[in-house]
Amino acid sequence: MVYKLFVIVLLVSLFVSPAHLHAASSKEESTRGKAVKERQSLFEHMETITGVPWYYLAAVDQYERNINKNGKEKGPSRQNKERITGFAFPPAFWSGMLNPNPDDTNPRTLSFFGGIGKDGDGDGKADRFNDIDTAYTMASYLAQFGFTEDDIRIALWQYYARDKSIEIISEFSSIYEHYNRLDVSGSAFPVPLHYNYSYRSTWGDARGWGGRRIHEGTDIFAGYGTPVRATRHGVIETRGWNPYGGWRVGIRDLDNVYHYYAHLNGFNKKYKIGDIVKPGDVIGYVGSSGYGKPGTAGKFPPHLHYGIYRDNGRTEFSYDPYPSLKRWEREEARNKKKSASGKTG
Ligand SMILES: [Zn+2]
Repeated sequence: MVYKLFVIVLLVSLFVSPAHLHAASSKEESTRGKAVKERQSLFEHMETITGVPWYYLAAVDQYERNINKNGKEKGPSRQNKERITGFAFPPAFWSGMLNPNPDDTNPRTLSFFGGIGKDGDGDGKADRFNDIDTAYTMASYLAQFGFTEDDIRIALWQYYARDKSIEIISEFSSIYEHYNRLDVSGSAFPVPLHYNYSYRSTWGDARGWGGRRIHEGTDIFAGYGTPVRATRHGVIETRGWNPYGGWRVGIRDLDNVYHYYAHLNGFNKKYKIGDIVKPGDVIGYVGSSGYGKPGTAGKFPPHLHYGIYRDNGRTEFSYDPYPSLKRWEREEARNKKKSASGKTG
């Protein structure tokens, strides 16, 4: 079959390329960069073979690598170190519900038992721990439903049965499509460094208003109207009023982290839900809104409440943003100094 030939050509091109050889001594950063390049070419190859746009595959992979990172889920354990993708198919899905052998790799018996696992690299095995087999299987699975955004959403619903997962994957794919590349990085401190501001670590402190709860974030004190900026590349997921946070904006980044900016006195009207922002983009302004019905303000001194939440595939939990804030502040100050003295990079 022409199909099979394509897959074999893909295999050869991926593994003959010297970029694939592992240099054990290379730094973590360049290893990461290499993996990003390899992933990008793998997804582009899959687009050629199956017609599924590369950024949908990239988004599913990014989502899966994120939720499986902590090892709490039964992620891809075998050959974990060498793998560049994170597609983790449940065995019953891969091999078929009634397949007596959950580790079956025979494409013929897999399809007999209704498993979706496919042989992508032409070695006669459908291995759910192999990058090419899993990427090809995911692409083929999505392709069955069609190629529009709605088709992909239906396919993802069948696979994850969770609205939040579909929303997050759609956000990821819109970022990748927007930049037309996989390597999207960078950061900024939430308020411009030349404004007057102050903050300290207050995560976990008790909070009175609205019942007993803990402080899930860092307060950055600054004057009314101080610009509030996106800290990472991401998609605006929420924007509006919330009784605790007042006027608030929520941005999801590619690490599946939700950045929550609260107590604003106004938004940058340029942005709406679903828009893509980059580090440093002004999304609103410092205020003192919140602790009541829409429009309530002035119940506390103006400040930006900044919280971060991570989604683990089932639920979202908050963690202390203070260390990240310190790092972004330091990095931005250093980059400014560098560019001021004429050096770049
Ligand atoms: Zn706060």
